[in-house]
Amino acid sequence: MANHPKGEEVFRGIGVSAGVSRGKVLVLHRARRVISRREVSSGGVEPEVVRFEKALAQTRKQITEVQRQVIEKMGAKEGDIFEAHLLMLEDRMLVDEVVRMIREQNVGAEFAFHQISERYVGALAAIEDEYLRERSGDMRDLTVRVMDNLLEVKSDFDLRHLAEPCILVSHDLSPSMTAQLDKKFVLGFATDIGGHTSHTAIMARSLGIPAVVGLQNISNQLENGDYALLDGYNGNVIVNPTDQSLFEYGQLAKIKASLDEKLREIRMQPAVTLDGKVIPLSANIEDQHDVEAVLAGGAEGVGLFRTEFLFISRTTLPTEDEQYKVYREVAAALKPNAVVIRTIDLGGDKFSSHLEVAKEMNPFLGWRAIRFCLAQPEVFRSQLRAILRASAEGNVKMMYPMISGLDELKQANALVEKCKEELRAEGQPFDEKMEIGAMIEIPSAALIADALAQRVNFFSIGSNDLIQYTLAADRTNEKVSHLYEPTHPAIIRLIKITVDAAHKNGIWAGVCGEIAGDPVLVPLLIGLGVDKLSAAPTVVAPVKYIVRRLKLSEAQSLAEMACQSESAADILARCQQLARDTAPSLFDKS
Ligand code: PEP
Ligand code: MG
Repeated sequence: MANHPKGEEVFRGIGVSAGVSRGKVLVLHRARRVISRREVSSGGVEPEVVRFEKALAQTRKQITEVQRQVIEKMGAKEGDIFEAHLLMLEDRMLVDEVVRMIREQNVGAEFAFHQISERYVGALAAIEDEYLRERSGDMRDLTVRVMDNLLEVKSDFDLRHLAEPCILVSHDLSPSMTAQLDKKFVLGFATDIGGHTSHTAIMARSLGIPAVVGLQNISNQLENGDYALLDGYNGNVIVNPTDQSLFEYGQLAKIKASLDEKLREIRMQPAVTLDGKVIPLSANIEDQHDVEAVLAGGAEGVGLFRTEFLFISRTTLPTEDEQYKVYREVAAALKPNAVVIRTIDLGGDKFSSHLEVAKEMNPFLGWRAIRFCLAQPEVFRSQLRAILRASAEGNVKMMYPMISGLDELKQANALVEKCKEELRAEGQPFDEKMEIGAMIEIPSAALIADALAQRVNFFSIGSNDLIQYTLAADRTNEKVSHLYEPTHPAIIRLIKITVDAAHKNGIWAGVCGEIAGDPVLVPLLIGLGVDKLSAAPTVVAPVKYIVRRLKLSEAQSLAEMACQSESAADILARCQQLARDTAPSLFDKS
């Protein structure tokens, strides 16, 4: 039943992926709610028991189906994991205890189940035997499923089986959830938490689906079936829109259609400024299926292949051969254009379920990316070998994420040399001159860019992380999103230091963070001397549109002003002014 039977209600958040959509709401994961004690009348007790039994049966059915699919795709051994879940569901002791509590204490099924299952999870977690202790994680997964069924929340299982187009509302969307998503039915994303560079935002932009994040508590305020309009430009979700709102947004959709037409015309044209400066534009991708979008978007190859998504949402590590096939496929499809493959950047907000990395207090400052790879040389080795082998089949370059100092770079380079020796000995072909770069996304790396530049072939500035680390503002936390300022003078200086160090050492410096896809900031980056840009495939065209209308001299004046300025707001205002003057059609939609 819809929650908002009457008037229009507007929820305000942060618009992170442009566009407007409207349709029925589907709530995936709600913010964890307090399961409060709900008393039921004596006549209401048996219906609660029935509801509980029904939720168990539904959970059993879902798990059996997931198990069947896993066995089909990955083999019988992988499917065994779900046996433990099914056995726990059959455990009469737990079930009987819940039923007894409902009957004896006249309480709702959620409350009884929550009380008893938490006791079981706690008891398992406290056991010394490691195997049994790990079962507490299985038990927790299971209780979430049963609770979702009791609360009629859609579980991950439903993500692959969306029956109709919908606006997805969720507390958050983890990479493992979105990997399962049947995206063709998703009209828009709306989440409680997140910022411009959180995973939901990046994914939405790369799919070209409108999205609003940082909506606080929308996941608990909407119900399945509510009708909503989602405005990704201005960051609004409007439930039960009035005719007036629908009309206004209809006008916006028309403006967007006419802009799309203009973008289509220049999509395959070169990205060159009015005064002849060529700025190669490439695309950011997550897997081999994105290649089509890269070609359709008019990008010149791939500037960032986020390979960690090959490791997420599976129960085993991908083998060297599996990885090789994926990298080769992408490299061959985009040849002669370059494909910059980034070695895995797991950790932070991107976790792999089977690597069993313990939860950390500060995951963004923890065991992620190159730190993880250097500590797991076998995992790293298989990826390095796969990338090297793929370099024989196309224009492959490789880069390391999260380099913080020279030692990491040297260690990684030494491992690459070892892999090359192995491949030579095995007679496996690879590109001896494959370029290797470092991502500059930690302030320490920017500050020692002159030393790093002597040991790599290129830099790629990861502004998403560089901004969060420099300004100590979590990129996924909407509460500090006002501090997450790409035009902060400290960021401008770090970019300038990096670019200057690159040029002094005869290498190129690109930007592959989300600012490279923002037409407002692109002139500033070009003015600062950035050589190449890489952005979501869907925003390559608007970036190209502004580049083709820009004069390098104007961009350089803007950058000069930014380097002198003490104010993020002043710099941003000048960027907006130049962008609007240069390409007014891109901004005609507020
Ligand atoms: C970045 O940090 O800017 C970047 C491109 O990497 P990711 O967003 O994957 O952390
Ligand atoms: Mg990063």
